Amino acid sequence: MAKSSSEVAAIAPDVLAKYETVIGLEVHVQLLTNSKIFCGCSTRFGDPPNTNVCPVCLGLPGTLPVLNKRAVELAMRASLALNCMVHERSRFARKNYFYPDLPKGYQITQYELPLATNGWIEIDHDGAKKRIGITRLHLEEDAAKNLHEGFSESATKAYIDYNRCGTPLSEIVSEPDMRTPEEAYAYLTTLRQTMLYTGVSDCNMEEGSLRCDANVSVRLRGAKEFGTKVEVKNLNSFRYLQKALEYEIERHIGVLESGGRISQETRLWNQSESCTVSMRSKEKAHDYRYFPEPDLLPIHVSNSWREEVLRSLPELPEAKRARFIAAHGLTPYDAGVLTTTQPLADYFESVVKSGAPAKTAANWIQTELLRRLNDSGKEIEASPVSPAALAELLKLVESGQITAASGKKVFAAMFDTGRSPADIVAAEGLSSQVDESAIEQAARDVIAKNPDNVAKFKSGNEGVFKFFVGQVMRATRGQANPQAVNDILRKLLS
Ligand SMILES: [Zn+2]
Repeated sequence: MAKSSSEVAAIAPDVLAKYETVIGLEVHVQLLTNSKIFCGCSTRFGDPPNTNVCPVCLGLPGTLPVLNKRAVELAMRASLALNCMVHERSRFARKNYFYPDLPKGYQITQYELPLATNGWIEIDHDGAKKRIGITRLHLEEDAAKNLHEGFSESATKAYIDYNRCGTPLSEIVSEPDMRTPEEAYAYLTTLRQTMLYTGVSDCNMEEGSLRCDANVSVRLRGAKEFGTKVEVKNLNSFRYLQKALEYEIERHIGVLESGGRISQETRLWNQSESCTVSMRSKEKAHDYRYFPEPDLLPIHVSNSWREEVLRSLPELPEAKRARFIAAHGLTPYDAGVLTTTQPLADYFESVVKSGAPAKTAANWIQTELLRRLNDSGKEIEASPVSPAALAELLKLVESGQITAASGKKVFAAMFDTGRSPADIVAAEGLSSQVDESAIEQAARDVIAKNPDNVAKFKSGNEGVFKFFVGQVMRATRGQANPQAVNDILRKLLS
C-alpha cells in the first residue's frame, strides 16, 4: 500500500553520513523522426487521438514491420555523441508482455545485441568534473498512451491513444556511477543538452519526449557490494527526479537502521504525496521471454556509414565551452552560460563575428539580453535584437560615440521597437555631443577646484586620476566621450 511521506522519519545527519548512495539512470528519448519506427504513420504530437495509426502499428495480423533508417541514424548520432561504440551488427528482439497499450502483445526492442555500448559523458558538478559511464544505447518502439483522466467514463474505463504506438525511442542506460541526487540531476542535464545539440530529440519532458527511471541503492561507506536496488519510475521532471531520489535514500537508510531489509521492487513517484509507492515486487517481475525478432533483419552499420554520421555531428557543448574560453577569452562560467543551448551559442558567435569585442558581447548578452528575453518570455531565436544590431550598438559604446549608460537605454529601445541603434541614438540625441573644447573647459574647472588632488597625482598617486575622470563625466552629465576625457585630463595634468 501507499506509504505516506510522514512514515519516513527524519534521520540524523551523522547516520546519513555512514551510507553511500549508488544511482544509475535509464533514460528514454523520443527520436525526432517524421514517421514511426516500423511504419509510415506520423509521429506528430498533439494530433487527435487514434488518427496516426495503421495496420502495422496497431499490430493487426499479417502485417510486417519495415525499419525507418532515419531512426537508426539518429540513434547512431546519440551513441557517437555519448562516446559509445556503435556495433557493426545489432538486432531487434521481442519483449513479450500483455497490456492494453501494446496491441501486438510484444514490444520490438533490442536485447542481447544493442546498437551501441561502452560510452560516457562528463558531468560538471560544483566545479568538479566526473565521468559517468553509459552501459548501452538501444533502439525500440514506444507503446501507446493510456489516458486515465479527462473522459466521461474515466472512473470505470481506460482510454488509449495509439498515436504514440511505434514512435522510435532510444533507451540510454547509465552505469551505477552517480553518488548523489545532484550528480543524477547533472547527468540528466548534460544528457539532455547533448541530445538537443545533436538534434536527436526535442527532449520535451511535458510531451514525454524525455523520460527517466532511476535505480537507487545505499551501502555502508567502504562496502564493496552494492545494496539492494529499487527502481523508481514516473520521474517526469528534473525536480521529481531529485526529490524522489532524496526520498528513497532516506527511506532505505531508515529501513536498514531499524534492522529491516530493502526489498527489490519497482516504485512510482507520487508527486502529490511527495513519496514513492510500491508498484510491483521482484517476485512479480515480468518474465519477458525475449527472443530475436524474426520479422526484421539484423542492423548492419558499415564503417563508412558510422564515419559519415560521426562527421555530421556538430561541435558538442563541452568542446564549445573549451573553445569559447580559449578563443574568446571567456571565463568558464560565462562559457557555460553561453553554451547552454546551441542557438544561444550561435547568437554569441554571430555578435562577435559582426565585430563586437567578445568579452563585452558576453556581458551584454548575459545581462541585458537574457534578462529582457526572460522577462518577455521569449526564446533567443525570437530575440527582437539581431546579433548584427547588438554588435552595432556595442561598437558605438566601445568607440565612445555613446556612453555605456546611454547604450543601455538604446538597447531597451531596440528590444522594444526592433529599430537600429543608429536610428535610436539620432532620434534621442544620445550621441556624445560634448565637443572637445567643452570637455577641456570642464577639465580645467575640475583641476582648478581640487589643488590637493592635483598635488597627490603629481606626487605619483595614479589612483586619483579616476577621481578627475569621474568629476569631468559628472560635469558633462555623462555625455562626454570617456576616451576624450581621459586624453584631455592626461594632457592637462602632465
Ligand atoms: Zn502505423
